[in-house]
Amino acid sequence: MATDLQIAALKIVSVNPATGEVLRELECAGEGVVEAAVARARAAQAAWAELGLRRRIEVLREFQGKLYEKKSEIAAAITREVGKPLVEALVTEVLVVLDAARFLIDNAWGLLRDEPVPHGNLVTKLKSGWLVREPHGVIGIISPWNYPFSIPATETLAALVAGNAVVLKPSELTPLVALELASLLHAAGVPRDVFQVVVGEGPAGAALLRSPIDKLVFTGSVPTGKRIAAAAAERLLPVVLELGGKDPMLVLDDADVDVASSAAVWGAFVNAGQACLSVERCYVHRSLYESFARACAEKTKQLRMGNGMDSYTDVGPMIQERQVRIVESHVEDAKARGARVLAGGTRLPELGVNFYAPTVLADVTQDMRIMREETFGPVLPVMACDNDDEAVRLANDSEYGLAASVWTRDRKRGERLARRIHAGTVMVNDVISCFGISEAPHGGVKASGVGRTHGRFGLDEMVRVKYLDMDRVPGMKKVWWHGYGESFRRQMEGFLDMQFARGLGTRMRGALRAAGVLNRKQL
Ligand code: NAD
Repeated sequence: MATDLQIAALKIVSVNPATGEVLRELECAGEGVVEAAVARARAAQAAWAELGLRRRIEVLREFQGKLYEKKSEIAAAITREVGKPLVEALVTEVLVVLDAARFLIDNAWGLLRDEPVPHGNLVTKLKSGWLVREPHGVIGIISPWNYPFSIPATETLAALVAGNAVVLKPSELTPLVALELASLLHAAGVPRDVFQVVVGEGPAGAALLRSPIDKLVFTGSVPTGKRIAAAAAERLLPVVLELGGKDPMLVLDDADVDVASSAAVWGAFVNAGQACLSVERCYVHRSLYESFARACAEKTKQLRMGNGMDSYTDVGPMIQERQVRIVESHVEDAKARGARVLAGGTRLPELGVNFYAPTVLADVTQDMRIMREETFGPVLPVMACDNDDEAVRLANDSEYGLAASVWTRDRKRGERLARRIHAGTVMVNDVISCFGISEAPHGGVKASGVGRTHGRFGLDEMVRVKYLDMDRVPGMKKVWWHGYGESFRRQMEGFLDMQFARGLGTRMRGALRAAGVLNRKQL
């Protein structure tokens, strides 16, 4: 019977999606290679953890310095392999990672050091308690291609500073950017076995999942995420799942049409619409609907498409033709069911096989595929709604719950609506930038995932919390130990009365009864 690995491609080919140029061919890691990488990571992890938090923070500072020096080179490597405009690579990838390093350098000490646990219960006052945050050991990271640097790097930095070793399986479409990350980390002082990259397709990821890692952080699509969750459940492997989205944008009747339409256009077409946080559904109050849709269409028609290396390019290619076909099928379905194409709606073969024109659709309905399935491409579907309640109902009517945005001039009203939306993040008067706020947790609800990356909660995912309890009076037997009897029962009742009875008299009588416990005979 053929195993996953026998049927896997032996080589992966990294291709520039704008030009079709082959950038490099790489050997796929087989099961044995993945297992050996995890074994080396395990062997190296103890020394990395023993290095101590302060020293690991210093290594992060080194990494940050090296990344800053090579910022343009790294951005160019990203643009070559994914196609996004160079300035987007700088801002949404390099800057995000520089700032994630800043957050960890400034906060890891405070967030990871031992923390005292004061005891409120009288009976446990003779003990001191501590929370100790220990690394899991070896963390496996499986990442997608759309943000090939910022996603694995932000997760890796948090894992490493907490004392873990990391084995990263990047997307088969973007292995070269992952190798750039490895070079930077190694140059900064992370031992080679503490951060390793294993390249390959799905089977290499599956091999990582089967290997004896201690936790897996997965970012990718819902179907793969479900497969991973099922396999992880077999061995109770803890996982973080950062999955897809279908983020709604709610434009209320008092919104600034010019600002909100620019946001919709950027939110739908940044990275050619291939962002988990892309604006994928737009619900606009009927009073603004036509003017908003028209403004979106006009702005979309001004976008310049092309190779991301050209400074004037606003929107680059999609990652591969397969992704273009999904977009095309969603747009065709919408058109066939009555949607109006206000801009785009076609491929751009004169630019290359991976180019699809940024598309604005009006008169879409909630049951169309474009409003239900993740499109992950440059399409902005706009639909009218009649009031705030309807907008919230439509926003929540989705299997996804990654992020959402509300657009209004009234902040209080925006906040009220934001609290009613089922999502991991809701922004009032902005889109997507939450991913770049290093303090903010990133992650979804419903099918959009489990767990968080980034910020304090992202760091929490990289440690096990151990509760350390130390008795202050080691020579004393605990009053609740064996040697029970009727008087002990009465003493304990008294003890409960002393602590929890409402009336002062009952409490005092309880205290007198409980006092007898001090002379109790115990085993
Ligand atoms: P994908 O699920 O196809 O692949 C993601 C990764 O999983 C790749 O490295 C792939 O090789 C690997 N993989 C595939 N099959 C596997 C298996 N059986 N076992 C283990 N690993 C396997 O996703 P993609 O196309 O690379 O990325 C796009 C998706 O990722 C979109 O749905 C997008 O919304 C989502 N995404 C989510 C976030 C987030 O933070 N929530 C961020 C970026 C992308």
